Amino acid sequence: MISLHNTLGGERQPFVPGDADRVTMYVCGPTVYGPAHIGNARPAVVFDVLARLLRRRYRLVYASNITDVDDKINQAAAEQGVPIAAVAQRWIRTWREDMAGLGVLAPDRQPLATEHVPQMISLVKSLLKSGHAYEAEGHVLFRVGAYAAYGELSGRNRDEQIAGARVEVAPYKEDPADFVLWKPSSEELPGWESPWGRGRPGWHLECSAMAREHLGETIDIHGGGRDLIFPHHENEIAQSRCGHGAPLARYWMHNGMIRMGKSKMAKSRGNILTIRELRGKIPGEVLRLALLSARYRDPLEWTDELVATSRQRLDRLYRVLLDCAEDSREGGTPSPPGGSARTAEPSPELVRALEDDLNTPAALSVLAGEARKLRAGAVEPVAGAAALKAGGFLMGILQADPVEWFTAVESGPELTAEEIAARIGERARQRDAGDYAAADRIRDELAGCGVILEDGPQGTTWRRAAL
Ligand SMILES: [Zn+2]
Repeated sequence: MISLHNTLGGERQPFVPGDADRVTMYVCGPTVYGPAHIGNARPAVVFDVLARLLRRRYRLVYASNITDVDDKINQAAAEQGVPIAAVAQRWIRTWREDMAGLGVLAPDRQPLATEHVPQMISLVKSLLKSGHAYEAEGHVLFRVGAYAAYGELSGRNRDEQIAGARVEVAPYKEDPADFVLWKPSSEELPGWESPWGRGRPGWHLECSAMAREHLGETIDIHGGGRDLIFPHHENEIAQSRCGHGAPLARYWMHNGMIRMGKSKMAKSRGNILTIRELRGKIPGEVLRLALLSARYRDPLEWTDELVATSRQRLDRLYRVLLDCAEDSREGGTPSPPGGSARTAEPSPELVRALEDDLNTPAALSVLAGEARKLRAGAVEPVAGAAALKAGGFLMGILQADPVEWFTAVESGPELTAEEIAARIGERARQRDAGDYAAADRIRDELAGCGVILEDGPQGTTWRRAAL
């Protein structure tokens, strides 16, 4: 049984899907106007693990949108003097590369807002018809006062709603709490013809329209960062309930924010770490493990120590996989083919940890415990390694070739693979010539650069030393 913390109601609940043959999940994706930072990656990684977990039991349809029409995109295009579509296209491509680099499997659907404007217009029409929306000066606004349950997700009272972030006070609003569904576009801005003139959607509208289009009227799980609870998700709930006549989602899940030092990471504070920058120095898998090292609902403090520890944890796991692969080769046991981890089963303890509201720190401890048993020889190496990799697959880690893991050299002051190979060749020549002292000097020199040589029946191999 999977249990999940539901923000709606604030309780842990057993997960019971509406239709066990088609489980649906929607996660709010990025607005594409610049490089994604590590905070943007957390929901993508967290809900990727949840998707992997759900797929063990159910047929899942997972949708995560991309917001490609937004005033921030228009502003970036104006600043850079390039077409608006070019800004969006560039950062969509980067987002997809960044997520693939973090081991995030592409969601089943990645709807773009600009491709769903007719669905959004029809939702606005329906809200106008039912009296939940009104037209004012080319805008269409949602009439918050007409929806009595408004605030049920965030638990905010009316005054807090008005004082809250991103609530715009404008003269054409009946009430400051009302939010924009549709706004007019001047000629140079992206716009679509509508019954209210040429315009573009407000940000909240797209998710209600796209979730319904791709997943249905009431979906099982809706996810996103905590910062989206209000007003974004509150507004999505109101639009869907009043426009489609059904609740938008049955389970609402929100991940905590990433903090740099003591402060919340936000672009306005300037302390951003882009995924691109980080991946230039650190393997994506290390970043992924770091993101999964705390419970998803808790804030996560991003520090250099977190990254270093995450790398050590992966090194230890891969070291065990490497030893198992070498043992089975030496023992004449054919090593399992690459895909075998997916046919092997992860341990029940690991599955239980993840089914407990996605307890990834506990799941990582389970993996570490399994690795210790393997190292101690308490488990048969081929089957044990396959189970370890199957558990890793569920978390999106440990799928690399262990030899490659230890020989991958990140950019930095270290030696390149070619330079290391050249030094190994030189050492072999010295040994053949009987100059063992010179050969040992090369070995020590490489060790000083963090490269460990291992002499085996097939010759000398090397690996990066564990940190
Ligand atoms: Zn959304």
